[in-house]
Amino acid sequence: MRDLSATNKLVGTMLRKKLIAANWKMYKTPEQTREFFRAFLPMIAGHERSELVVCPPYVDLHAAFDSAHGSGIAIGAQNVFWKEDGAYTGEVSCSMLKSTGCTHVIIGHSERRQYFGESDETVNLRLKAALHAGLTPIVCVGEVLEEREAGLTEDVLRRQCLRALDAISGERAHKLVMAYEPVWAIGTGKTATPTMAVEAHITIRAEASKSLGKEVASKMRILYGGSVKPENAKSLMLEEEIDGALVGGASLDARSFASIVMY
Ligand code: PEP
Repeated sequence: MRDLSATNKLVGTMLRKKLIAANWKMYKTPEQTREFFRAFLPMIAGHERSELVVCPPYVDLHAAFDSAHGSGIAIGAQNVFWKEDGAYTGEVSCSMLKSTGCTHVIIGHSERRQYFGESDETVNLRLKAALHAGLTPIVCVGEVLEEREAGLTEDVLRRQCLRALDAISGERAHKLVMAYEPVWAIGTGKTATPTMAVEAHITIRAEASKSLGKEVASKMRILYGGSVKPENAKSLMLEEEIDGALVGGASLDARSFASIVMY
């Protein structure tokens, strides 16, 4: 008898080109952004295996887009507001992002949830706006340490996915990328083992399949994020269920990000 799950796995893997995204958080000026690309581009010349995205602070988007022009590297933002325009001091809309050449946007990063009161509901609003605008969203989910220790990781991931994907059709979500980012691994030097990451990715894909349908979920890329470094990138990226990486600290230095890309 044909093993359908194995076939689905194979189809999914063939359709999912790895994506490696840099999250620069609140680091670098436009000049430092240009310096980064001057150093980084020659180090990854000829690289085609993965798609690359760099997500600098808003003020660096122009400089990043100019510097990366012609390299195939996409530029993303670290957040977006769901309204189109209006009296929302400090916020930036999807069309504003697109006007800078930005094509991707991180949504629901744990630092946004932890320090800026973002919730599964606001993640859902941002995600709907980004998909509607044709941006590629990278939606972050992940458990905190107490949740992992209490055996709640799967429940937390299911709840975050269910709410983030609420009322989004599979048709609309074909660009969606998810990132599993265990909060205890972000910026701490602790990394989830490949086995932990794979288990979490399987949960996320199963939940996405319920909301968006099997076909969209099997093609959806799920990145791992949390202290990815040149030393651990390969063991994570060799897992077929890990479709790439979201890299914070180690993406700020051209050499270390280039070694992750070339794992
Ligand atoms: C992140 O900011 O998404 C991240 C994973 O950070 P770090 O790689 O520094 O843990």
